Amino acid sequence: MTLAARPKGAPRYSALSLVRHGLTGQEWPRAWRRHSLRDSYDVVIVGGGVHGLAAAYYLAANHGISNVAVLEKDYIGSGGSGRNTAILRSNYLTPEGVRFYDRSMQLYRRLAAELDFNVMFARRGHLTLAHNDSSLRTMRWRAEVNKLQGVDSQVIGPADIKRLVPYVDMSDRARYPVLGALYHPPGGIIRHDAVVWGYARAADARGVHIHQETEVLGIDVEHGRVRGVTTSRGRIACPVVLNCTAGWSTLVCDMAGVRIPVETYPLQAAVTEPVRPFLDAVVVSGSLHVYVSQTARGELVFGASVDPFPSYSMRGSLEFIEGLAGHILQLMPSLASLRVLRQWAGLCDMTPDFSPIMGLTPVDGFLIDVGWGTYGFKAGPVSGEAMAECIDSGKPPPIIAPFDLARFHEGRLLGEKGAAAVGH
Ligand SMILES: Cc1cc2nc3c(=O)[nH]c(=O)nc-3n(C[C@H](O)[C@H](O)[C@H](O)COP(=O)(O)OP(=O)(O)OC[C@H]3O[C@@H](n4cnc5c(N)ncnc54)[C@H](O)[C@@H]3O)c2cc1C
Repeated sequence: MTLAARPKGAPRYSALSLVRHGLTGQEWPRAWRRHSLRDSYDVVIVGGGVHGLAAAYYLAANHGISNVAVLEKDYIGSGGSGRNTAILRSNYLTPEGVRFYDRSMQLYRRLAAELDFNVMFARRGHLTLAHNDSSLRTMRWRAEVNKLQGVDSQVIGPADIKRLVPYVDMSDRARYPVLGALYHPPGGIIRHDAVVWGYARAADARGVHIHQETEVLGIDVEHGRVRGVTTSRGRIACPVVLNCTAGWSTLVCDMAGVRIPVETYPLQAAVTEPVRPFLDAVVVSGSLHVYVSQTARGELVFGASVDPFPSYSMRGSLEFIEGLAGHILQLMPSLASLRVLRQWAGLCDMTPDFSPIMGLTPVDGFLIDVGWGTYGFKAGPVSGEAMAECIDSGKPPPIIAPFDLARFHEGRLLGEKGAAAVGH
């Protein structure tokens, strides 16, 4: 494990330092610093979400490459990384996907200690409900693929579901009666902002420059090679650019003349007022297009599948919340009097096979870590680790090799829709 890093002179985050600061009223130092923009960097990362910041951190921590800039047009975490519903799991459908997401779960489990930042990872168990025979078949398939990769998943029946989540309507009167579920005990939730801030602080401590309010406007490519980027604050020379811009990834790829099969769709979510803890597991219903979890503070967090048309809108809609409420009440009728506090939307970069696109592109020095759709937050650590290795060695490590761009014209798609459409 890499040792926890913190900015020079910054206190270690602990209960003791919290008490000391509370008693003395001493200010906490900035978790990451402001820097002036250099004329050149060894690596420029576009996008200050979990993927960009994790790649920057692992470049510095694992490879000693710290002359790195993360350029973020807004503030860090302002994209999907600060808008997601923070569900972590590795119960995917393809062996490639299961191996990949499981590595991320391993990194997430030790992340708080590694970054010296409480990321509030809570192992809760993850249930994907089956309301018909074909869903049950897919669940059995997923359970077998998971077990072969050493991931704990099993199909359980109504009695076990009732025991794990007593408030789900298991009666025959339900519109879509529950027949069984895929149960994945290691699944859980995390505090998404803390993950972003923890990576930012640890990357900064190792010399990475994080530039917020710095938009990349163009990528300079000469004779098929990256030479630099043009930003809203001036030009930067660099031999390597990594595109980690998720919902905006096609726009940044266009700047380098690289075409990717990605379409951007809004995804909405909502949160209720807090209530006493009653829901331990994360519950997903693909047939009802909803999922729900309860935060440590007691709020219920709801989500669904993407809006039905591509758009760059980040506004919630009345139609969404009406549909969501109807479906949630079919699942848990006793929530009828709970008040929704807030709803929001983020952008999702959807690929045809619901798997990411990672690695090299036809332009030398231009790399991509995109196609994260509705499921990319959980992949932040493994993607950062793998992309850092790819940048250092010049070739994609085996864990991301199946996710290359070439698969789309070579017919090697990695169909993950059965495991990624609703249960992000
Ligand atoms: C409502 C919702 C719920 C979700 N739930 C889950 C979940 O439960 N589990 C899960 O694993 N995933 C979930 N996701 C998906 C997940 O949020 C994303 O896949 C993930 O956050 C992508 O991270 P990222 O770092 O690649 O991109 P982002 O966090 O989107 O960061 C990209 C950044 O690039 C910046 N940028 C764009 N263009 C430029 C430019 N030209 N110059 C500089 N900066 C630029 C943007 O401002 C943005 O901050 C959800 C998404 C949404 C919207």
